[in-house]
Amino acid sequence: MVRPTFARIDVAALKTNYRALRAFVTPPSAGRRPPQVIAVLKANAYGHGAVTVARALEDAGASMLACADIEEGVQLRRSGVRIPILVFGALSISDLAGVFEHRLTPTVSSPSAARALHEIAARRGVRLRCHLKVDTGMNRFGFRYDNLRATLPDVLASRHLVFEAVYTHFATADASDASLFEQQQQRFDASTALLSELGLAALPRHAANSAALLRDRRTWLDAVRPGLLLYGAVPDGLPAPTALRLRPVLSLHSRIVAVKGMRPGETCGYGARFRADRPTRVAVIPAGYADGLDVRMAGVGAVLVRGRRAPIVGSVCMDSITIDVTEMDVSPGDRVVLIGAQGGECIGVGEVADWIGTVPHEILCRTGSRIERVYSDTETDSAAAESGEPAAP
Ligand SMILES: *Cc1c(COP(=O)(O)O)cnc(C)c1O
Repeated sequence: MVRPTFARIDVAALKTNYRALRAFVTPPSAGRRPPQVIAVLKANAYGHGAVTVARALEDAGASMLACADIEEGVQLRRSGVRIPILVFGALSISDLAGVFEHRLTPTVSSPSAARALHEIAARRGVRLRCHLKVDTGMNRFGFRYDNLRATLPDVLASRHLVFEAVYTHFATADASDASLFEQQQQRFDASTALLSELGLAALPRHAANSAALLRDRRTWLDAVRPGLLLYGAVPDGLPAPTALRLRPVLSLHSRIVAVKGMRPGETCGYGARFRADRPTRVAVIPAGYADGLDVRMAGVGAVLVRGRRAPIVGSVCMDSITIDVTEMDVSPGDRVVLIGAQGGECIGVGEVADWIGTVPHEILCRTGSRIERVYSDTETDSAAAESGEPAAP
């Protein structure tokens, strides 16, 4: 049984996006090795379901996945993923044994993390493959770019840590002001030059998240790390170039459960925030903030019903919203699309993010845990979803 509100995950679109990204960063004239695509699956693969996404990408030929912490990495391994898994986040609060027992590739981002990993690796008598992180201006994880001469020699002396790559992360790749973005690139170049001086010659380098990848091909280096783009969404203000055709992977569906009339002057919902100024019909959709909708969508957002936009009125409740359907002929049971396409209309995650002033990443990750993910992986299924008549789950 599937609740009336569910997310459809178009696995075929995900694989298409992965291949499109790989092709995009592989210029036809490539003399050198094209950048690798490290697929970012943190936070339950941006709400899409990490296990299914991981296996689909492995199927599509992905060579490396990345997640936020050891626990996420262990979950992926337990589900049968065999390709390398890079762990981005801080290690100190996690159980480091998981790194060894589940063959994860940790990020070494501080002297203490390096020491802890070195000690366990030495005790187990193994050489641990890891990536080194340099902080070039984000001021979050990583060795400070301007202090490497002091911090790195000890780390590099470990015979139990094998550095496979070095990376950094941009703070403002999606901002119109490019100054910090440029500065971080220069600092990263200088840092990796210093690494060669310290004896780590020609280590593969990576830096680009989705925004950087779209914005500046100089950031592609030896690998790129897209998250958002894989899921078919683009960072605000950075439309995907025509050479990169992406398809949304997640769509959010529901059905009308009730329709009722309101007299002029009556109000609807908590706080009585919507007042009917004419005879009005509202429809109730069984999806609320417990499902990931944002309370700020009230009075701003819309949903699709019968291929048209119906505004969200009243308040966003825990389990439901109300929409104004005065101009529409609707009945209980009618299909509703909260994110995605129906008829010729479409509401993308970028638009929803704009309504409430956030990034598309947050909209995807919000998709609530009680929402069932319905996976489809055939071209026919996805064609049906695009025509606005998704097959019933
Ligand atoms: C989340 C993350 C990414 C991917 O970011 P997108 O904007 O979704 O492409 C890349 N690198 C690191 C270190 C991250 O934490």
